[in-house]
Parts: sequence; structure tokens; C-alpha cells
Amino acid sequence: MADYSEFYQRLKKEKNQIAERLEQLIARRQSLGERREGSPFGKREEEASEASELEKTLALEKKLRGTHSEIEHALEKYEAGTYGLCDSCGQPIDLTRLQALPQANLCLSCKARQAKDEKGAR
Ligand SMILES: [Zn+2]
Repeated sequence: MADYSEFYQRLKKEKNQIAERLEQLIARRQSLGERREGSPFGKREEEASEASELEKTLALEKKLRGTHSEIEHALEKYEAGTYGLCDSCGQPIDLTRLQALPQANLCLSCKARQAKDEKGAR
């Protein structure tokens, strides 16, 4: 049985960092949104750059939320004693993969299959 406590510590730290960044992003997004509503006669160029910044903020927020829930899931698995096992096939996930991505919930072959399925579904 491999010792995953190091990954657990890393994940907990990362989760806190992501939560902090999310808070900052949400505050930023709210101030951008309020400014747009509050100034209907603002300059067009200004509005356009704020709109694209808002879009970027939203995209980053979505990405961080995704990572956050992956980490949360990995932490739950650790507590349940199934950390390091693939969610799909139940096989142990490659240790080098976990070192690169401690929140990985799928082994490489299931991940590749999932990516292929998603591509095909579009
Ligand atoms: Zn698998």
C-alpha cells in the first residue's frame, strides 16, 4: 500500500489556495458587473475591455471551480481509503501521474477514453 499522505497534504493546501483565488475572482467579477450596470453612458471602448475582462474572469472562475471540485473529490476518496484508485475501472492510478496531478481521479487509459468519448459526443 502506497503512502499517499504527502498528496493529501498537497491537495489540502492547493484547495485552500484555490478557494482564496476564487474569492478574489468573484469579488473582481462583481465589481466589474456593478460598474457596467452603474454607467450606461460609459465609453464604448472601456465597456468592451471590461466585458472581455469579465468574460476572462468568468472562464477562469469556471476552471478553478472544476479543479476545486476535483480536489474535493480526491480528498473524499482519501478519507474513504480509495485514493489513488481510478473512479472508472478501480485500478491503481500511476504514481507518476499522481505526482504530476494529485487530484487525478481517473487512470491514464480511462482519461484517454473519456476525452475520446467527449470529443465524439460533440
Ligand atoms: Zn481506469
